[in-house]
Amino acid sequence: MKPGTLTDLINKTGQRSREGGRKLSGYNFAFIDEGTKKEIRRKILKAVAIPGHQVPFGSRELPIARGWGTGGLQITLSIIGPDDILKVIDQGCDGSVNAINIKKFVNRVAGVKTTTDTREATVIQTRHRIPEEKMTPDQILVLQVPYPEALRTIEPSEAETRRMHAEGDYSRMWLYLYEDIVEFSEISIGARYPVMVNKRYIMDPSPIPRWDIPRLDMAETLYLFGAGREKRIYAIPPHTVVEPLEFEDFKFRTEDFKGAKCERCGGQGTFLDEIMDDETGKRIYRCSDTGYCDKNISGRIALSGNTNKKEAHRFYDSLGFKKHGYSSMVEDTGEDNE
Ligand SMILES: [Zn+2]
Repeated sequence: MKPGTLTDLINKTGQRSREGGRKLSGYNFAFIDEGTKKEIRRKILKAVAIPGHQVPFGSRELPIARGWGTGGLQITLSIIGPDDILKVIDQGCDGSVNAINIKKFVNRVAGVKTTTDTREATVIQTRHRIPEEKMTPDQILVLQVPYPEALRTIEPSEAETRRMHAEGDYSRMWLYLYEDIVEFSEISIGARYPVMVNKRYIMDPSPIPRWDIPRLDMAETLYLFGAGREKRIYAIPPHTVVEPLEFEDFKFRTEDFKGAKCERCGGQGTFLDEIMDDETGKRIYRCSDTGYCDKNISGRIALSGNTNKKEAHRFYDSLGFKKHGYSSMVEDTGEDNE
């Protein structure tokens, strides 16, 4: 097949969807068959009913390989409707190859509109990040999960981890954390920091940074987790207590970016990617959440250009910025990160 042929075929034969995008014909809406969607939706309901509990499901074959987000994609395809607006991010980035291809795929098979704006999206599929902007009860965040079992580091047997979850027998997990502190003077887990959901199940939050962990607690948004290769679905419903595992005298901490700011938008108080500048050899930082970074830049332009000032101010206010003379700013007290 010549390069570009498939794209041409898709664009030419697709029927127009409600939003004017082209939908691929000859396939069921959102690719997977209705029987499978029904199963996945039932499993999602069970997962929502038992927060943090892993529900097995019959993970299906998709046109992408397992390990590339098939769990998240199956959830997205099962819950998405023609009027939904989809955003897909990979490590916070809207523009990575994986994110773009998943977005394109869902767009072709469901005809849904896509966006990079966190506020505009109704369904957000993500790998390794939770968006910086606060999400609402009308939105659903679908997380791609490589390893759903938080206890796997301490116990290789699936039968045994299931027993441990059933009996709430988490003593070995606590011991593991304690030994970590003894050896390294801190809990050395970065991403995949284990959390206690609804004071009942220890859960793997997928490899999000510690920075994102507090966003899981008492959130307004439904979080759905899908592991395609491991065939598991689990959920954190809105207003659920989610606590990172910590000791009374050894508290959970997020990453500390004190003093650092995004080289692109100048923003502080977001999760930053550390990059080595090839030319200067210096360490620079950029917002991991590209959608937020873009908005921050456009907000500034609107402010300095004196156009759409009211709207820009409203946007900054909604993010918790405070008025400071003619501009808006966030106090960097370092307390936000605790
Ligand atoms: Zn930025």
